Amino acid sequence: MEKILVSACLLGTPVRYDGRAKRVDDRLLARWRAEGRLVPFCPEVSGGLAVPRPPAEIAGSGPSRDGASVLDGTAKVVTESGTDVTEAFVRGAHLALEAARRSGARLAVLKEGSPSCASRRVYDGTFSGRSTPGQGVTTALLERAGIRVFNEDELESAAAYLSELETSSKF
Ligand code: SF4
Repeated sequence: MEKILVSACLLGTPVRYDGRAKRVDDRLLARWRAEGRLVPFCPEVSGGLAVPRPPAEIAGSGPSRDGASVLDGTAKVVTESGTDVTEAFVRGAHLALEAARRSGARLAVLKEGSPSCASRRVYDGTFSGRSTPGQGVTTALLERAGIRVFNEDELESAAAYLSELETSSKF
């Protein structure tokens, strides 16, 4: 059975920086959970960060400030007070990839907007609430490894991809 790596906070686990969850009540997630497909994971907590923790954003002097540039060493993840938390974010990303590989997951549903889990938009590093197109650190690493990442608003697309994977693995 195809497994799905999923941000733990989307399933109601209070692991976010503010000590809360971001639970999504959706029939697809409920079905996948009942089928035993979900592999809940929080890269930031697994990477060694506490709950709660100061919010962090991806910052850098280059034009590109996203998870891929963090992996390439041209951007950092910092808190508003300037503490560099890049190492924990990169460690968490690698642990997420390990969890996906261990379970055989070829897709993931991760929380949009997070410096770890975003797939479309990240905050721009100014702590002003502005976002910019880009992926989080974990998403960038998963996608480099060939794992497709969807956000919580793309569950129908994730379901379509899941059935594509299941159909192709029957042949
Ligand atoms: Fe949720 Fe991902 Fe942030 Fe963990 S790192 S709290 S799973 S969005």
